[in-house]
Amino acid sequence: MRRVRFAPSPTGPLHVGGLRTALFNYLFTKNSGGDFILRIEDTDKKREVPGAEQYIVDALAWCGITPDEGPKTGGKLGPYRQSERNHLYEEKIKILVNSGQAYYAFDSEEELNLYREDSEKKGETFIYNWKNRKSLKNSLSLDKESVEKLLEKGEKHVIRFLSPESQEVKTVDVIRGESVIDSSLLDDKILIKANGTPTYHFANVVDDHLMKITHVIRGEEWLPSLALHVLLYDAFGWEKPIFAHLPLILNPNGKGKLSKRSGEKGGFPVFPIDWREDTKLKGFRESGILPEGLVNYLATLGWSPEEGLEILTLRKLTELFLLENVVSSAANFDFEKLKWYNHKHIQTTESFKLAELLESLNKNAGEIIKEKLADAITLVKERANTVSDLWGLVSYLFFDPISYDEKSLKKISKDGLEKIVSEIISQCKKRDGTSGFVENLTSWGDEIGIGAGQIMMTTRVILTGSLTGVGVQEIVSFIGLESVGRRAEKFKTGI
Ligand code: GLU
Repeated sequence: MRRVRFAPSPTGPLHVGGLRTALFNYLFTKNSGGDFILRIEDTDKKREVPGAEQYIVDALAWCGITPDEGPKTGGKLGPYRQSERNHLYEEKIKILVNSGQAYYAFDSEEELNLYREDSEKKGETFIYNWKNRKSLKNSLSLDKESVEKLLEKGEKHVIRFLSPESQEVKTVDVIRGESVIDSSLLDDKILIKANGTPTYHFANVVDDHLMKITHVIRGEEWLPSLALHVLLYDAFGWEKPIFAHLPLILNPNGKGKLSKRSGEKGGFPVFPIDWREDTKLKGFRESGILPEGLVNYLATLGWSPEEGLEILTLRKLTELFLLENVVSSAANFDFEKLKWYNHKHIQTTESFKLAELLESLNKNAGEIIKEKLADAITLVKERANTVSDLWGLVSYLFFDPISYDEKSLKKISKDGLEKIVSEIISQCKKRDGTSGFVENLTSWGDEIGIGAGQIMMTTRVILTGSLTGVGVQEIVSFIGLESVGRRAEKFKTGI
C-alpha cells in the first residue's frame, strides 16, 4: 500500500508551492487508497514560527486534504513532529557511528571559518570531505582515547556522514529519470548538530524509513540532496522509497520562483487562507476563491488530465492522477486562469452555500436574509469569478442606486426619456404583479413610437444605475413593483 508524506517545516504559512506538493502527494496516494501522512519537520527551532503548524493543518483542511496520520490525528508510527523524535535519531546515528559511516567532528566554527577564508584566497571552495577530513579535528584523525576524552569532557561536536571517496551514486526519479553523481564532489554533511538534534537530511531519511514511506514526492529544490539521501539509505542498508521531484512554480511572467513577494507585487494571493501576521496579503479564501477552484487549478501546475477534462473535483482528480504524467518543466502561476477555474466551480456550488461564504467575506451581505441572498446569487453567479465578485453583482437587487453611471446616462438621454419614466411609475401604481412588466412596457412604447431597445436600456439604468446587470424582467420580478416605482421616482427627481 502506498504511504506518502507531506513534510513541511513550520517556518511560516504554507504557500502555493507547498500546497501543490501536499496535493500531489494526496492525489497520488488516494488514487490507490493509500495513506497520507503529515510530518512536521521542526528540527530547526530557531526558524520555527509560532502558529505555523496550526496554519498548515487549517490550510490543508480547507482544501479537503486531511491526513490519515499526523501530529493532531495521531497514528501508529508517530510521533509526527520531529522535535519529539530525538530518541529515534540518537538510536539510529549510533548505527552509523559504530559501523564507521559517520564520525565525530570537533572543529570549531572559528576554525572552519579560517579554512574557508584560506580556500577563498586560493580561489577554491572549502569542502569538508575525503580530501581533507584526515587533517581536520575529528574521530578519523584523532586517536580513540583522545576522542573518548573529548566526548567525556563534553567538547562541542557534530556528527558527520563519511561520504565515500569515489563512488558513482545512481539516483532514480520518476519525473526526471536516472542520473549518476560522483560522490567525490559531495561534502561530509552534518547529520547531528552540536546541540544534539538532527539536520534535515538525517531526520528526513530516518523518518521516511521508520514511517514506512513508499514514495517521496517533494519540490525540485530537494533534488540536489537526493544523492546524499541515497547514500544514507545504503549506509543503513534500508530499502529506498521511490522519489519524485515536482517542477518549480514560477512567477506569472515565467521569471523567478513564485514567492510571497510575487504576490505582493502582482496583487494576487499566494497563501491558501489569511496568515495572521501577514496583513498585506490576503489568502485565496479571503479573496473569494473556492477550495475546489484552487485545488483544480493547482493540479494543472505540472500535470494535466486527459484532453478535454478540465473542471474536476478533488475526488475526480484523485481518480485520474498519474505521477508518471507529471512533467519536469516549470509551470507559470496564472491568477487569471485560477479565476477561470474558480468561476466554473462557482457554477456548481449551491447558491445557499455561496451566500454563506459571501457573508463570511462581506459584513454587509450578512444583513440580508440568507434565502433572499441565495436567490439573488442564483441570478448572477454565471458572471462571477470569485465569491467576492458576487456582492457587486447582487447589490442592485437589494439597494436602490445612489448614483448613475455617466456613460449610461448619456446613452439613454433621448427624447422620450421622461415619458418612459412616467410610464414605469404609472405601471407600478396600477398593476398588482410583476409578470409581463417588460412586455407591457415595450408594447406601450411600440404604440407611441419608442423602440424596445431604448425602453430596456432606460429601465435598466433606472433600476441598477448602469447598463449592466441581469435581465430587466428578472430584476423587476426580484425587487418587486414597490421598489421599481420608488427607483423610478428617485430617478425622476434626479433628472
Ligand atoms: N521539510 C522540508 C521542506 O519543508 C521537506 C522536504 C522533503 O519533503 O523532503 O521542504
